[in-house]
Amino acid sequence: MARLSTLSDLPSVDRLLAEDAIAPLLRAHGRPLVLEAVRGALDEARAALAAGGGVERAALEAGIAARVRALAAPSLVPLFNLTGTVLHTNLGRAPLPEAAVAAMAAVARGASNLEFDVATGRRGDRHRHVEPRLRRLTSAEAAIVVNNNAAAVLLVLDTFAKRKEVPVSRGELIEIGGAFRIPDIMKRAGAKLVEVGTTNRTHLRDYEAAIGARTALLMKVHASNYAVEGFTASVGEHELAGLAREHELPLVSDLGSGSLLDMTAFGLPPEPTVRGMIAAGVDLVTFSGDKLLGGPQAGIVAGRAALVGKLKRNPLMRALRPDKITLAALESVLALYEDPERLAQRLPALRLLTRGREEIETQARRVRPRLAARLGGGWSVETVHCRSQIGSGALPVDRLPSAGLRCAPAGAKRGRSSRLHALAAALRALPAPVIGRVHDGALTLDLRCLDDEAGFLAQLDHLAVP
Ligand SMILES: *Cc1c(COP(=O)(O)O)cnc(C)c1O
Repeated sequence: MARLSTLSDLPSVDRLLAEDAIAPLLRAHGRPLVLEAVRGALDEARAALAAGGGVERAALEAGIAARVRALAAPSLVPLFNLTGTVLHTNLGRAPLPEAAVAAMAAVARGASNLEFDVATGRRGDRHRHVEPRLRRLTSAEAAIVVNNNAAAVLLVLDTFAKRKEVPVSRGELIEIGGAFRIPDIMKRAGAKLVEVGTTNRTHLRDYEAAIGARTALLMKVHASNYAVEGFTASVGEHELAGLAREHELPLVSDLGSGSLLDMTAFGLPPEPTVRGMIAAGVDLVTFSGDKLLGGPQAGIVAGRAALVGKLKRNPLMRALRPDKITLAALESVLALYEDPERLAQRLPALRLLTRGREEIETQARRVRPRLAARLGGGWSVETVHCRSQIGSGALPVDRLPSAGLRCAPAGAKRGRSSRLHALAAALRALPAPVIGRVHDGALTLDLRCLDDEAGFLAQLDHLAVP
């Protein structure tokens, strides 16, 4: 095969595009992408020649094909979340039920009654597709949906607290992953944060002292991703609601995860419910759609009709509103909540969270020999007990008993860490990347979220064992 050794040996872009080997690429991917790949491969070849190397003609063609594949490959892909964090923000949070996927596909394909009232033939309101269910499930008078919970908090503050003051306990000035910080979001909304109490203890009298003529509302923020322990005090919603009423101020609670049902009924750690907040006298509750609720990315505000009405009329709503695909998924997930008895089987997030250790361990024993065989003698693969977490800030201190596979390099201590990281990288390089957790000298795959066991096993053949 021809070896190219000087710049003048390199074929032109047009020559390459006209080659037989390139024709299938052109047919499959179109000219612009292939052209980009050809130029990239030629640049690389020129650099190699300039550095004194040579280039095989066949390697040039293979390079073009590889570049086309890389350019054409989707960037956003499904993967196996075996990290042990069920609602992992970086890994897309809640898995959706098939019913929601079907509902999304149905409205995605064509026209829908998103903002159209089929009965009257008039313009409709996009929130009405989910509002009645949200009212039933939370006992709130009204509800709206926005892009995410950060947007919900922003919308509430922009609507009610612009150029005004909002007292918040120092123990609740939280940062959530992805740079959502209460003080920052206050600033963006043009509200003035008034810090109340201390980091570990805040009393009702602290709020009382902070209320003045410019106070817009009282706000509670659910400390979702950490716990203040030890000598602590905070003011509950019920107590704060009394104070808010006395001063005719709305009480807002940013609940974060916001579960619709009592999670302890499913054997999970307690988490405040939206209904509980409304019953305690909170006027507006904001929460995420894709955390414990188990739905699509969305932010929900539930509460008093008069206040929700003001939110709807805020021009910002136009920028924060959800699309039809989100609403379709959310409606379908909320429908599952109307039948709590079957929820744990039908809602994947809840099903994964409630899997018992025994079931996961049985699965680990089933999968272990296959993984061990693939990894070969250089690795030890053991079935181990581990602890999963809910994720997305829900109760970081409570861990769910789980089981998984612990892969450790066998033999000499030298180079173990780099082999471990090489294995993690090889698992990530699979067609459907497998994400585990490297700690304590091993790579642990928590199998709590391994739904597609057959798919996981099938691609082990592609694993490049380090
Ligand atoms: C997660 C969380 C947010 C942000 O919600 P997103 O839906 O991710 O925008 C805000 N506040 C609290 C308390 C949270 O837990």
